[in-house]
Amino acid sequence: MIKLLFWIVLLAVIAFVLGFKRGRPAPREAQRPPPPPQRGLEPMVSCTECGAHLPASEALPGRGGQFCTAAHRASHEARLEAAEAARASVGRDDAGRS
Ligand SMILES: [Zn+2]
Repeated sequence: MIKLLFWIVLLAVIAFVLGFKRGRPAPREAQRPPPPPQRGLEPMVSCTECGAHLPASEALPGRGGQFCTAAHRASHEARLEAAEAARASVGRDDAGRS
């Protein structure tokens, strides 16, 4: 009788261990930290001045968009200011005529 009890307990222990092992990988999967961001997946932007594509982290923000170099930003902003100055002078001419 004691032998039968021993086998029942042994089977229960084996079943418990097998069930424990089978249920174990799921929580370990959930605890795994997310993979580090890959450089290849970084969003790309294009330079407003020359159209060159570059990673968003390397782009220089400026008036009117993103730029690949400070020189391109400066030349684009100079052109924007020239256009605004021309528009302002045209507006002044219209106001003077009427
Ligand atoms: Zn550029």
